[in-house]
Amino acid sequence: MDKKTSVQIEKLYLEGEQWEQNLGEKTIHAKRIPGKFRLLKWIGTLIWLPFFLLPYLDWDGRQAILFDTEKGHYHLFDITIFSQDLWVLAIMLIFLSVLLAVLTSIFGRIFCGYLCFQTVWTDIFTKIEQFIEGSPNKRRALDAGNWDLDKIKKKTIKHVLWIMIALLSGVTWMLYFGVEWVDYIDGSISLTTLVITSVIALGAYVFAGFMREQSCLWVCPYARIQGVMLDKKTVIPAYDYHRGENRKKLVKGEFQEDAGDCIDCHQCVAVCPTGVDIRKGQEYGCITCGLCIDACDSVMEKVGKPKGLILYTSLNALNANSSPVLPHKRIITWLYTIGVALFAYLIIHLMNSITPLDFKVIQERTPLFVQLSDGSFRNKYRFKLMNKSNKSIDGVLSFESSNPSLNIKSSSKNFSIKPGQLKELYVFLSGKNKKGKTKSEVEFIINSNNGIFTYKSIFITKKIDQ
Ligand code: SF4
Ligand code: SF4
Repeated sequence: MDKKTSVQIEKLYLEGEQWEQNLGEKTIHAKRIPGKFRLLKWIGTLIWLPFFLLPYLDWDGRQAILFDTEKGHYHLFDITIFSQDLWVLAIMLIFLSVLLAVLTSIFGRIFCGYLCFQTVWTDIFTKIEQFIEGSPNKRRALDAGNWDLDKIKKKTIKHVLWIMIALLSGVTWMLYFGVEWVDYIDGSISLTTLVITSVIALGAYVFAGFMREQSCLWVCPYARIQGVMLDKKTVIPAYDYHRGENRKKLVKGEFQEDAGDCIDCHQCVAVCPTGVDIRKGQEYGCITCGLCIDACDSVMEKVGKPKGLILYTSLNALNANSSPVLPHKRIITWLYTIGVALFAYLIIHLMNSITPLDFKVIQERTPLFVQLSDGSFRNKYRFKLMNKSNKSIDGVLSFESSNPSLNIKSSSKNFSIKPGQLKELYVFLSGKNKKGKTKSEVEFIINSNNGIFTYKSIFITKKIDQ
């Protein structure tokens, strides 16, 4: 070990001595170390960027994603879902839950580690904290120190920035529901909007600023159920105890008999956002973010040992001291993939089945038919037409039937329906019965600027033998 490495290692030990196992009563000040998993975490953070940008995206003259709860119109780019089709959104949520369970089963809690809003917001808040208050040691010292001018200044700047992000999160959420920034500025927002915005902002401020890992450890219900989603083949960060034990501190110039590769520097624990000591085995506090892998790899590099003392592996592979079966080589991965793909296909199919015009025909039952003075019959139909598109629908009504004697009379053969509006039409068909039959098949047709829509019905008469 050269002199430079020896100084670096001693520094790590000094740092390690100041570290305590997280039992929930103290704020974690995790150390930040660059590495590939740190980079992945930032990429995961970027996935949330569209959340802040999408409310400003215009799509065909309106907000691209807009949940107009008052009118019951839910716009997702070209798709508009009306209240009566909300089941599609429910199915989408079920799909996302299934996807989450499948991902957890194969890759562990990657959602928690890289994508969860709690993890991402906490990461941003602690980054700001580090920028203003300094390294974890300085932050701990500042917390323990007296309230002098420097502490007041640093804490004020930090909290102002945190509150700004929390408010931005709350307001952004409401923008999806048709609220505008100007409503907050000119004071025209409703009390409900104000309450929801405040609850979201307060939630972001408290959970990301103060509770941090406590949310993952004690509050999040998902953390509680994840145990049943993992199996012994799930690939998760783990400490290779075969290689690491017996852990022994490095002492300059001393040969350590029976020493494993772990130099007991605590760096893997110092970087852990939930304060887990991965060397003790899998704990439910572990959000599988891989930051301990980055930390240990950097230590291994310093001491000239191979990387991967902490690595992504499965419990089975770890116990057998072998390489894990990679996810793409597991049958279950492919079964899950097929299941998820089928589910996705079903959702796409269901979305496509939502036509721009909801076209229903209700045949008058009392009476089923009226016999006219010339001996012919008349049936009455009530048409319910709902425009579920973003444009007016102009249509012409007609019909086809195997019964050539039928003719149509409608309260309006040509009609126009504005977006989101419902129109009712009364339609009468009159004609004779088909020989020896009381029913003739009829197909009503609407030719519109938004496509052709059809509805099968019947024409009913009294039985007359001819
Ligand atoms: S596992 Fe790696 S980072 Fe953790 S204490 Fe051992 S050597 Fe240090
Ligand atoms: S133990 Fe490692 S993978 Fe688990 S949360 Fe801590 S740093 Fe992330």
